[in-house]
Amino acid sequence: MCRFDLNLMPSFLEMPLQVLTAIGDVKATLLRRELNLHTVRDLVEYYPLRYEDQSHCCAVKALLTSRETKKVRLQGVLLRIEHIGSGKPRLVAWLQDATGQAELIWFRNSTWWAKTLQTGAAYAAFGRATFYQNNKVSMVHPELTRLKPDAALECAGLQPVYKTTEKMKRAKLGTRALTKLQRSVWHMLSSHRDDIQEFLPSYIKARYRLIERVDALRAVHFPSDASGLHQAYRRLKFEELFFVQLQLLTLRRGAGFNKPQGRVYKDVSLLRRFSSTGLPFTLTLGQKKVMGEIYRDLCSGTQMNRLLQGDVGSGKTVVALMAMLLVLSSGAQAAVMAPTELLAEQHYRTIQALTEGLNITLGLLTGSVKSSRRERLLSDLAQGHLQIVVGTHALLNHAVTFNQLGLVVVDEQHRFGVAQRAELWSKASAVEPHVLVMTATPIPRTLAMTLYGDLDLSVIDTLPAGRKPVQTLHCTEAHRLKAFQLVYEQVKKGRQAYIIYPLIEESASLDYVSLLEGYESVQRAFPDFVVGIVHGRMDAAAKAYEMRRFEQQQAHVLVSTTVIEVGVNVPNATVMIIEGAERFGLAQLHQLRGRVGRSDAQSYCVLMTAAQLNPRSRARMLAMLQTTDGFKIADMDLHIRGPGDLTGLQQSGLPMLKVSNLEQDSHILQTARKTVQDILRQDPKLECPVHEPIKRYLTQAATSTTQWSRVS
Ligand code: ADP
Ligand code: MG
Repeated sequence: MCRFDLNLMPSFLEMPLQVLTAIGDVKATLLRRELNLHTVRDLVEYYPLRYEDQSHCCAVKALLTSRETKKVRLQGVLLRIEHIGSGKPRLVAWLQDATGQAELIWFRNSTWWAKTLQTGAAYAAFGRATFYQNNKVSMVHPELTRLKPDAALECAGLQPVYKTTEKMKRAKLGTRALTKLQRSVWHMLSSHRDDIQEFLPSYIKARYRLIERVDALRAVHFPSDASGLHQAYRRLKFEELFFVQLQLLTLRRGAGFNKPQGRVYKDVSLLRRFSSTGLPFTLTLGQKKVMGEIYRDLCSGTQMNRLLQGDVGSGKTVVALMAMLLVLSSGAQAAVMAPTELLAEQHYRTIQALTEGLNITLGLLTGSVKSSRRERLLSDLAQGHLQIVVGTHALLNHAVTFNQLGLVVVDEQHRFGVAQRAELWSKASAVEPHVLVMTATPIPRTLAMTLYGDLDLSVIDTLPAGRKPVQTLHCTEAHRLKAFQLVYEQVKKGRQAYIIYPLIEESASLDYVSLLEGYESVQRAFPDFVVGIVHGRMDAAAKAYEMRRFEQQQAHVLVSTTVIEVGVNVPNATVMIIEGAERFGLAQLHQLRGRVGRSDAQSYCVLMTAAQLNPRSRARMLAMLQTTDGFKIADMDLHIRGPGDLTGLQQSGLPMLKVSNLEQDSHILQTARKTVQDILRQDPKLECPVHEPIKRYLTQAATSTTQWSRVS
C-alpha cells in the first residue's frame, strides 16, 4: 500500500499525498490546486459536503406506486443491456429486483459501460428515479456498485459526498474516488492510530460527553448512522470553536502578555497638512466620529485593535489613510493589507494620488513584484526608508521586516482569517503595532463581539453627502435592449459601466465559456466603445492593466467576474448589469452594487435573471429593489434564509471555520468560549499537565504551514 517505511517517518499524517499508492504526481497536483490538499492530514480533515442516505433500498414496485422522483437506491440483478436509437445511441440496462424491473440509462460513455457491465451480476444503483408514461422506472447515469452475489440485500447506509471540481471529475477524482482514498488512508491509519492526536483535555471531553478526536474523524468519513454522525460533528465543532476562542482570547491579552504597550502617536502635523491641501472633500459626520475614536486610541499608549465597519462606499479608505498619517508623523511606518492584488494596487494608486505633495514614500508588495525590485523594497522597508507599504498577504512573508511598524490596516477583513492578523502583529520587533481592520460586511453586533472578541468596534454610519441611492431594476432576457440602452446612454454622457458575470466554482469552466461569450456579445452590441475584461484566470499584470485602463477612463465598459466584488473604486462608473443575478447571494449582490453610486451622479444597477425564478431568488431580487442599506439587506438576508442558515456569512470566511455554522452552533460557541475563559483564568500559561493537549495543538498550529502560506 505504502511506498515508505512508516516506522522511519515522523508522522504518516504529515506526508505528501503521493504516499498513497492510488495517487501519483498528477493527481497530487490536482488535489493541491483544486482543493488545497497537500498532506495525508489535509485529506483526513477534508470533510464531506453532505451525505446521501442510501440505507433504504427501494423496491421497484413501491416506487411505481409512490411515483416519488427522489434519489433512491435499487438493488437487483442485471438482466440484459442494449444500445437503443441510432446516431448517438443510448445504453439501456434492465435491473430486476424481487418486485419488478427498472431501466438504467447512459447517454455518455455508453461504449465503456457496455463493456463493463455484466449481465447476471448483482448491482446496486443509486440515482434519481423518473417515471415514463407506460409505468416504467428509469434512472439516468446512476451510481453503480457491483455487489457480491450474496450481498444483494445489504445496504450501504449514509454515503459521504465530497466537494470536487469539474477538473477533478475529468481526472477520475470524483466523490467515489475520494471515498476510496479515505478508505485506504484509514486502513493505513489503523496501525498508526496515535498519529491522530487528541487536542482536548480529558476532563473537558468527559464534562461535555465528547467523543475522541480520532473516532470523530473516522465517523465523518464512514458514518455508522445519523446519531453517530451527529456526535462526530458535535465533537469537531466544539474543538474548532474552542480553538478559535482560545486564539481570540489569548490575542486579546497578548499585548499585556509579553509585549510592551503601544506607542503614543500624538503628532498631527501631517494630518493638518493633508486636511488643508490633500483632502478633496469634507469628511462625513461618521468619518469624523471614527477618526476621533482612532485618534484617542493612538494617543492612549495601549495597543489599538479596532474593527471599522462601514457600508460599501462609506469612505473607509480615507479614514485609514488619515490614521496612517498620524503614525507617520512620529517617524513610524504603516502597512495596508488587501485581499487581492487588484485591490492592493488600487489602494496603492489611491494613496499615491491623495498624498501627492506630502512627500511620503510608498511601496507596493504583491506576489507578482519581481525579485530585484522586491529585494530593494524589502531593504527599504527594513531600514525605514519606506513609510507606507501596501500589499496582499505577501506582506506576511517572513522576509518582510519593518524598521518601526506603527500601524497595520487590514482591508475587507472577511477574506482573511484571524490567524493571519496575529501573524502580522508579530512583525513589530519591540512594540506591537496598532491594528485597524476594515470591513463592509454588516455583522450583527453580538455576533461580531463573539467573533472578534478581541476587537473594539467603530461604525461609519453616514454616506458622503450628495449620494443618490442606486436605482435598481430587474430585467429578463426579453428586455435586454433596455438594459443595454442604459449603458449606451450613460457612456455617451461620459460615464462608465460594469457588466458582471457569475463565476461559481463548481462549474467554473462552463461559466468561463459564458463569460467569454458575454464579452463578445457586449463588444458586438457596443462597437464604438472600448470594452475591457477582467477575470480570475488572467495573470496579475493583465488584470492590473485592464483595471488601470478602466480607472483612467480609457475603457468604457468592463466585463468582469466577481473579482471586482470587493473594494474596487471607480466613481465615474454609474451603471452595473449583473448577469444571472439569481445565482448570487444577497450580501454579494449588495457588495457588487456598491461599486456604482460612488459619486453624486445618479447610478443604476440592472439585475438580469431568467424569467422563471424560485421564491427565494425572487425574494432576493425584491430585497435589492427595496433598499440600498447594507444593514437592512443583512436583515432581509437572514429572513429569507431563515434563522440557522448564515452560510453567506460563513462563506465570507470570517475565521476559517470548517465545520461550524455560526448561527446554528451558537450554543456550542458559547460553551466553548466559556470553557476557554475558565481555563485561562485558572491556568493562564497552560502549564498544568492536564492542559498538555491544548499546548500540543498550539505548537502544531504554529509549525504547520496550513494557516497562511496556502491561502490564495
Ligand atoms: P469603502 O468604504 O467602500 O471602502 P471608499 O473608501 O472606497 O469606500 O470610498 C468611496 C468613494 O467615496 C471614494 O471615491 C472616495 O474618494 C469617496 N469619499 C470618501 N469620503 C468622502 C466624503 N466625505 N465626501 C465625498 N466623497 C467621499
Ligand atoms: Mg474599500
